[in-house]
Amino acid sequence: MTGPLPVLGFSPQVVCVSMSGMTGTSQTNPIDTTPRSRISRRVGAVAPSATLAIDAKAKAMKASGLDIIGFGAGEPDFPTPQSIVDCAIAACADPVNHRYTPIAGLPELRAAIAKKTLRDSNYLVTPEQVLVANGGKQAIANAFATVIDPGDEVLVPAPYWTTYPESIALAGGIPVIVPTDESTGFQVTPELLDQYLTQRTKMVVFVSPSNPTGAVYDRAGVEAIGQYCVDRGLWVLTDEIYEHLVYGDNEQHSLPVVVPEIADRCIVVNGVAKTYAMTGWRVGWMIAPVDVINAATNLQSHETSNVNNVAQRAAICALEGDLSAVAMMREAFDRRRQTIYTMLNEIEGVTCFEPQGAFYAFPSFVGVLGRSINGRRPTSTLELAEIVLEEAKVAFVPGEAFGAPGYGRFSYALADADMQEGVRRVAALLATSTD
Ligand SMILES: *Cc1c(COP(=O)(O)O)cnc(C)c1O
Repeated sequence: MTGPLPVLGFSPQVVCVSMSGMTGTSQTNPIDTTPRSRISRRVGAVAPSATLAIDAKAKAMKASGLDIIGFGAGEPDFPTPQSIVDCAIAACADPVNHRYTPIAGLPELRAAIAKKTLRDSNYLVTPEQVLVANGGKQAIANAFATVIDPGDEVLVPAPYWTTYPESIALAGGIPVIVPTDESTGFQVTPELLDQYLTQRTKMVVFVSPSNPTGAVYDRAGVEAIGQYCVDRGLWVLTDEIYEHLVYGDNEQHSLPVVVPEIADRCIVVNGVAKTYAMTGWRVGWMIAPVDVINAATNLQSHETSNVNNVAQRAAICALEGDLSAVAMMREAFDRRRQTIYTMLNEIEGVTCFEPQGAFYAFPSFVGVLGRSINGRRPTSTLELAEIVLEEAKVAFVPGEAFGAPGYGRFSYALADADMQEGVRRVAALLATSTD
């Protein structure tokens, strides 16, 4: 044989070597027989999600009968609109949905995504540039796995969504954290990115509106990042999952629309989870150049194949419908945003950046750390979150989960009255703190 079989991605020689190893007898071949290690280094290095740890503790406390108020949720508290649910019910009964369908997504859904992208972002793409995945999360994993080689560096602005660094590392890449704080509105600039740029930098992660900070880049800010990537020959992954949740004078601008020259090295991630209150349905997508989509589709064909057809049918109805449901949610989130931002800022030692998008407030607790609270003296927000959960029965996610110690993430995707009661409890507990 002169070369690898065209259908195999791995080298057949590797198989031959291990086969000959197996045919050698154990008597003549002194192979170490101590039990092999268990968890691979790659997966063993994945950090447990701090978000889920606090959430699990809060749920356990709730289950034991305690009255816990949770600010941990990263999902809308509204139900999926009934018209979308009805489409799914009909899809269950339709035999066309019983079988495997194309890996990259139902053709009707890919077309609906292309159409929606033009409608909402003014970004013209073809259905062949769309890969439907199990949520935005799988789209992100696909994207990194498809363009990152071992040792490639990816610039990740912090505070970051916990999944990015883990997903980059799983793809063999190196997440390079670029810290920001409220002095720049939690935004990166070309000058800041340049401090972390090396010969091995391949990609920049961009997310606006941001989880966890609620920051939204204006047009000039988006343009600066897009142009930076063009000038340095970098790829960019832009996460637009919160595109419809922007408040006040803030506006969402899609990066490849503001800077069209980047389109050939740009991957857009989006999904139905946040816009249509469909987190559990697991439908997201990536939009990228066709060669990237084809390679990522190959990858997905060996991992998960097509996304659940019923959920895809529901997503088609969501995208072909209007945006009235998200308009209603946006109004509620905006009202809560102003309340929580005001209430948090009224707490001594707490300062809160005004969220501009998504549904998170991201206050700093630096002025509280080191003080004595009921005889305990937290020196990190990780410890503070635990004390607040135990003493005030309020769960929030410590900033450590997002590469931002000293802060906390408060989701305002909960009823207004619960939200106010929760912040009041935190305020009351912290008011008892002493030097
Ligand atoms: C929720 C979220 C996603 C996608 O979530 P899925 O449920 O996997 O679609 C992607 N990025 C950010 C920043 C998010 O908060």
